[in-house]
Amino acid sequence: MTALFIACADGRVAAALAALQEKEGASDADRFLVPGGPLVLTKPGTERRVALDCVRTQIDLHGIRTIYLVSHQECPAYEHSLGGLGFDQQELLARDLRRVKALLENTFADVEVRCFIIPWRESGAAPAFGEAEPVE
Ligand SMILES: [Zn+2]
Repeated sequence: MTALFIACADGRVAAALAALQEKEGASDADRFLVPGGPLVLTKPGTERRVALDCVRTQIDLHGIRTIYLVSHQECPAYEHSLGGLGFDQQELLARDLRRVKALLENTFADVEVRCFIIPWRESGAAPAFGEAEPVE
């Protein structure tokens, strides 16, 4: 499988991202890591255009057929972009993922897009990021 993961550059979710790649049989997949991950593709103008150019390059170079969009809870890049927390993270992330999935599927005809969110778990002795969960 030839895949591309678009995910947040936050190093705290690197292990969860690697685990998802492994689970999907895509350990050697391409990665496009920027603050907020798919967030950059929700922005208007230059930011989105540059990001789309990067994705197009990776598709062209490596024959990407599947794109994984991976967002995570407790994302400082999202916080920064929205000017603070105090929103329903899960709902907001899922909405943006669906929006970016539609954008990518409309832009790149032969690409399948799958969406995941890495949750923040408060329970247990040590709060930590959990296993990535699919978003429909
Ligand atoms: Zn993040």
